[in-house]
Amino acid sequence: MAEVTMDKLVSLCKRRGFVYQSSEVYGGLTGAWDYGPMGVELKNNVQRFWWREMTQLHDNIVGLDAAIMMHPRTWEASGHVDNFSDPLVDCRNCKSRFRADQIDLEAACPVCGEKGTFTEPRDFNLMFSTYMGAVKSEDNIVYLRPETAQGIFVNFKNVLQTSRVKIPFGIAQVGKAFRNEITTKNFIFRTLEFEQMEMQFFVKPGTDQEWFEYWKNERINYYEKLGIRKDKLRFHQHGPDELAHYAKDAFDIEFEFPMGWQELEGIHSRTDFDLSRHAEYSGKDFTYLEDQTKERYVPYVIETSAGLTRSVLMVLSDAYEEQELDGGDTRTVMHFHPLVAPVTVAVLPLVKKDGIAELAKDVEKNLRQDFATFYDQSGAIGRRYRRQDEVGTPFCVTIDYDTKEDNTVTLRYRDSMEQERVAVDQLSAKIREEIANYRRHA
Ligand code: ATP
Repeated sequence: MAEVTMDKLVSLCKRRGFVYQSSEVYGGLTGAWDYGPMGVELKNNVQRFWWREMTQLHDNIVGLDAAIMMHPRTWEASGHVDNFSDPLVDCRNCKSRFRADQIDLEAACPVCGEKGTFTEPRDFNLMFSTYMGAVKSEDNIVYLRPETAQGIFVNFKNVLQTSRVKIPFGIAQVGKAFRNEITTKNFIFRTLEFEQMEMQFFVKPGTDQEWFEYWKNERINYYEKLGIRKDKLRFHQHGPDELAHYAKDAFDIEFEFPMGWQELEGIHSRTDFDLSRHAEYSGKDFTYLEDQTKERYVPYVIETSAGLTRSVLMVLSDAYEEQELDGGDTRTVMHFHPLVAPVTVAVLPLVKKDGIAELAKDVEKNLRQDFATFYDQSGAIGRRYRRQDEVGTPFCVTIDYDTKEDNTVTLRYRDSMEQERVAVDQLSAKIREEIANYRRHA
């Protein structure tokens, strides 16, 4: 089996309408990407999968959708104005720019090969800022949020007072975040504009370690439910010098991307850092009163912070396979879990004539009530199967002359390429059952 490389993924994503370079007609914008017809479905499905897992399948997690622009004091309180920076170095010879913590400053420049050309590292704040209103002055600065978490913290009391949550409880949010990253290679792995799926879980101080373990476990299990291969996932605990300014303990969930093991999600034990800081900077009360004990405290927080767009790259990398088939043929197949595949069922008439196409259109119209469907009548059937394999469609339904006789169709499975006859009136139920029991084949 051929290795999946980033070049192959980028090329498939472009060819099949998953991801395009941003404003490509003007030569592109570094670090920004657009999601095409297939990509937006995949991304929305991954988001829905996360949302359902976090809110619907847990008793005590509610959702939120906060604004991207927040009061600038938010970012002073959170520590981002002072601390959210990366050390930047330039090569004096070729003008390339690097993060000082990602290269060996004693070695030669990785771009031009010259030695001793690096500038001294200097701190570079990653927040994008702009001005609100007509006057561009220091007083009018607003930031594009670099994470969604702070929108959750500042709404802690609002949610507490307007919903029936009690500690321990969580608030989940999905949305855009912006970071003026120094280096943005590796496709959609690290971009300037990206989406996060974050959940802040508020607990009683002293129970935080227990909940930290609970969330580590929940989150790694989530990826397996999403169909990601177990041997591609691992934990990485932050050492003392890696811990962020707010963190008591932190584990990353890492995935083996084509360029190697990299962070996918962070699970952070944040203590009462955030709520206390917002209390201090806003002068408002961020305490919680426990009904039964009448104890009042500032809750501790366990955070699970995953990248949505980075998850899409994980799903794409994990799904990609080039297979050698019997007879020397090859195929590229994306083994997406059916719950996130952009198209769930493709309906393909074997021929267009003799009413077969009309029959197929009827079948597709019925299926579209329950599934994301795609109708394709052009080209040889083998080519049509290959096209669906490349976009990861788990089920193909073929309508032929027998369908006219006995009202059955051929159901073809993407992973195994096996086929079976199924009665048209059983088709929806059969596909639903296959999705519920899905296990990746090969
Ligand atoms: P790094 O140290 O790699 O810059 P980080 O540890 O600061 O990242 P977090 O602040 O913990 O990252 O962000 C949580 C999650 O958000 C990450 O695990 C990742 O999935 C996602 N994420 C962070 N920055 C980016 C980015 N520039 N592009 C895409 N996703 C990102």
